[in-house]
Order: sequence, then C-alpha cells, then structure tokens
Amino acid sequence: MSEIPRCDYHIHTAHVGCANETMQVPDIVAECERLGVESLGITDHLNTLDQLDLHRRIREDIEALDTDLAVYFGAELNFDGPDGDFAFSEEIKEEYGFQFAIGGIHSPYLDEHDLEKMVEIQHRHHLKTCRDPLVDVLVHPYWFHKGKFDERGWPWFDSMEAVPEAFARELGQVARETGTAIEINTAANLESARYSDRYKEEYVAYLAILAEEGPCFATASDAHDIEKLGTIGTAWKVAAQLGLTAERIWRPQGAPLAGGHA
Ligand SMILES: [Zn+2]
Ligand SMILES: [Zn+2]
Repeated sequence: MSEIPRCDYHIHTAHVGCANETMQVPDIVAECERLGVESLGITDHLNTLDQLDLHRRIREDIEALDTDLAVYFGAELNFDGPDGDFAFSEEIKEEYGFQFAIGGIHSPYLDEHDLEKMVEIQHRHHLKTCRDPLVDVLVHPYWFHKGKFDERGWPWFDSMEAVPEAFARELGQVARETGTAIEINTAANLESARYSDRYKEEYVAYLAILAEEGPCFATASDAHDIEKLGTIGTAWKVAAQLGLTAERIWRPQGAPLAGGHA
C-alpha cells in the first residue's frame, strides 16, 4: 500500500459561527500537530458576501501562527439556491487571498420527498460544481442534513443504493476531466453518527467506483468541533484501502500561508 499524505483540507472555525468555540485557529493547529497531520486547510463557510469580513479574521489568525505545519487558507462554498451560484469570484479570491475553494450542494432542494429526484438533483449539482473553474474540491457527495429530514418527517437517506452506478461513473469522469478533487469526508459521511454501518460500507464502495474513473481525492475531516479532527485518520485509511497513490491525493498549489518549513 502506498503512503497516503496526512492532509486535512476541510476544517471549520468558530469565526463564522457554524463550528463551536473549541475551533480557534491556534487550537486547531495544535491538535493537528498532535494527530500527525502534515498539511491542513482552514475552509470556513462562505455562503454570502457579508461573511467575507469574518474570513479576513481567519486569514489574520493563520498569518499569526508559529508552526511547522503547512497551513492553507480556503473557503467552503454553497449554492445560493437551486441551480444557483456560489458567492465567490476571481476578484474575491484575489482580494481576500483565498488559496483554494471547496464547494458543493447542501440541500435536497425539494418540497416533497422523492428519492429518485433527490439523487438526480444532487448529481446535477455535483457535475456543476466540478465544472466551476474556481472550485478545487467537490465536498461530501450525498451528505444531507438529517435535522431537515426529521423536521419534514422524511425517511432518512441511509443507503447509497439509491445512487445509480452510472451517476458515480459520470462524476468520476467529469472530476478527472475538470481536475476537481472529490472528498473523502469523515465527519459528514464516513464517521457521522447519523449514518448506519451499512451506509458507510456502501459509501466506501461508492468511492471505489469513483476512484476507478481516475479523479483525485481530498482527505477531509469537515470538523466543526475539535474532538472531530481525529476522524481524519479514517479518510487516510480509506484512501489507502482504495489503492490511491500519493499523486492522487489533492494538495493546494503554491506555498502555505503559514508554516511548511518542517
Ligand atoms: Zn459542507
Ligand atoms: Zn464543511
């Protein structure tokens, strides 16, 4: 088995308010050092432009770090509606100094439960995300917000059998062609308490089909709590299990904003 680089390119902070108070940039980096992470990316949510000032503070926190760990500054993008856009542009990237962007769909975009339609909508947005030249990594395919399902009394999305193999193959191909990495995400998917063990097995099988089509993958904890950073080990394990080589593990281009001297 080849050596999987110990990276985590999906981490939230307390600044934007989705992650809890344990997620302060210096504490995140200290915990990553303890866990043996070599390179990481802070990627808080950028759903609306009014969050940009908060991202400026994250960048300042990273610049103030004293660390040997390579620390990059990214953002996680979300569509502003069904078939909508991301609150991101080449100008914003440059002005705020974002080094990369991860993004994807975060809603079923349905008024009534319809599993087939739900999967089709996710798939369409996955492809759209890959085709966006500003997005480097597609986040957590087929993650859903369980609370929203419970609120509406919908049956939970707890099997990947609803996803046709043809969708997986097409996504793998489009990701390869566009040079977009696909996430192996632990807190949202592989280590989420909201999913059954069966779902998790099916999810690894799904990733294996994607892998056969040749795209790169990003390892991601998607931690919103400092305790969840440790789940990243599962992403490294699954990457090795999929037979991925180090060249197929995505890394941001260029020098990190902090550290990287080790
Ligand atoms: Zn997300
Ligand atoms: Zn996230």
